[in-house]
Amino acid sequence: MDKEVRISRKCTSLNKDDLPCGSPPLYEDVQCFMHSPKHREDAQKARSLGGQRRRKEQATQVIFDLNDLTSLEATDRIFEIVALDTLQLDNTPARSRALIALIKTKIDMNKHADLAQRIAELEEAIGQENAIKH
Ligand SMILES: [Zn+2]
Repeated sequence: MDKEVRISRKCTSLNKDDLPCGSPPLYEDVQCFMHSPKHREDAQKARSLGGQRRRKEQATQVIFDLNDLTSLEATDRIFEIVALDTLQLDNTPARSRALIALIKTKIDMNKHADLAQRIAELEEAIGQENAIKH
């Protein structure tokens, strides 16, 4: 079968909202893995594992106080967690190297934040029409 033809095919089943599934079907099948009757048991296991994974991720976010993983605050919080976890390890040369790597990383993070702040201040000073395009 031609590769481009396979890519353009779509699963013939409907999703839970009664809309076309849209996922690519399995090879020599008209339905995707999740809708194919041949893979019903495996698909159910995959759904169950996916649900467990999402619940575990949500619990992890609460435990580590991470609301928005894309935020700068989350980056700082993860850095703090890693630093504290590393400090709690036995005092070994590996722990020392890890702590030094953490310090270097934090210095780089601070430099980046400082430069971003300075650029923002310069753009503010020269006006929006002269701001650096990016
Ligand atoms: Zn499907």
